[in-house]
Amino acid sequence: MADAPTPDFEHVPHPAPTPDAARDEALKDPGFGTLFTDHMVVVDYDADKGGWHQAVLGPRGPITLDPAAAVLHYAQEIFEGMKAYQQEDGAIALFRPDANARRFNDSARRMAMPELPEALFLDSIRQLVAVDRKWVPTIPGGALYLRPFMFASEAFLGVRPARQYKYILIASPVGGYFKSGAPAVKIWVARDYVRAAKGGTGAAKTGGNYAASLVPQAQATAKGCDQVVFLDAVERKWVEELGGMNLFFVFDDGSVVTPPLTGTILPGITRDSLIQLLCEEGLTVREEPYSIEQWRDDAQSGRLLETMACGTAAVVTPVGTVLDGDTEFTIGSGGPGQLATKIRNRLVGVQKGTIADTHGWVTHI
Ligand SMILES: *Cc1c(COP(=O)(O)O)cnc(C)c1O
Repeated sequence: MADAPTPDFEHVPHPAPTPDAARDEALKDPGFGTLFTDHMVVVDYDADKGGWHQAVLGPRGPITLDPAAAVLHYAQEIFEGMKAYQQEDGAIALFRPDANARRFNDSARRMAMPELPEALFLDSIRQLVAVDRKWVPTIPGGALYLRPFMFASEAFLGVRPARQYKYILIASPVGGYFKSGAPAVKIWVARDYVRAAKGGTGAAKTGGNYAASLVPQAQATAKGCDQVVFLDAVERKWVEELGGMNLFFVFDDGSVVTPPLTGTILPGITRDSLIQLLCEEGLTVREEPYSIEQWRDDAQSGRLLETMACGTAAVVTPVGTVLDGDTEFTIGSGGPGQLATKIRNRLVGVQKGTIADTHGWVTHI
């Protein structure tokens, strides 16, 4: 599948792109996920027409779907999230887009969907960013958030993998996820709900995982927390991840623990990058299970210095307080820790081109 010929892009000109002044005004405070660029990419797949067969880069707008489209009934859908960063010299850079392309196909296989050739995925990103390059924010913490996704479009109510799909790429200029840099967040321990079980879809980036996380997330909000943390589905003991971010625990002996990728956790690209950067900082990183009781004990004894959550959207976010039922515990001072701040600056520096990229992570458009 991955070697199938990839279609050429047909370019459909936008009849009325956003005027420069209106776009520049909107880019001063883009928020998160509400502002979109002028264009999008759509590629169609039909198992009976040789697979991926039509790629169009054109004006962004509504799509039509048959009401029987399989995605609306059985949720065959996957997505990715990545960012394009404005460099000081005017260039635009992507961070590890090849890793997103691979993970997209890992998710596709789990959801019984066709793989998208990596070259087609990467080409779609490059072409959209090139045509919408004026939409990349230049404000501090800003980036062009890219959202590639794929869903089953076949009109069929029987239960089997669909034979028709759409791959779409849209782009949304975003500001910093948190307005004031990265304050320490308060998180709620989900005791009534789990996010993923072994053998389930926890390692796939699929919308259903998020749908299932909304009720516990709403509980978290009702309890005055910013995010929810999930425990494993079997023992309800091991800390897994937040709704959309991976976790790192920093100890006073120079070691760092992050939960292992055993199929129930999303393999974050930020997670993978942080493991490498932390090792280079001289820290010992262990991928091993960490229990909620241990977390509380280590926070109370002071052995645990910091907890950091990480992901593309919010980069590195310090966890200040954890609320578990009626019990609350604080990590370190309850504010952003030293390592979180240092490693965040390191990662953002590489992404923005102000720190040398020694890993080959950055690709210029
Ligand atoms: C996308 C995602 C992450 C973070 O992955 P990154 O590649 O670092 O952005 C973590 N957890 C979940 C559930 C996710 O969907």
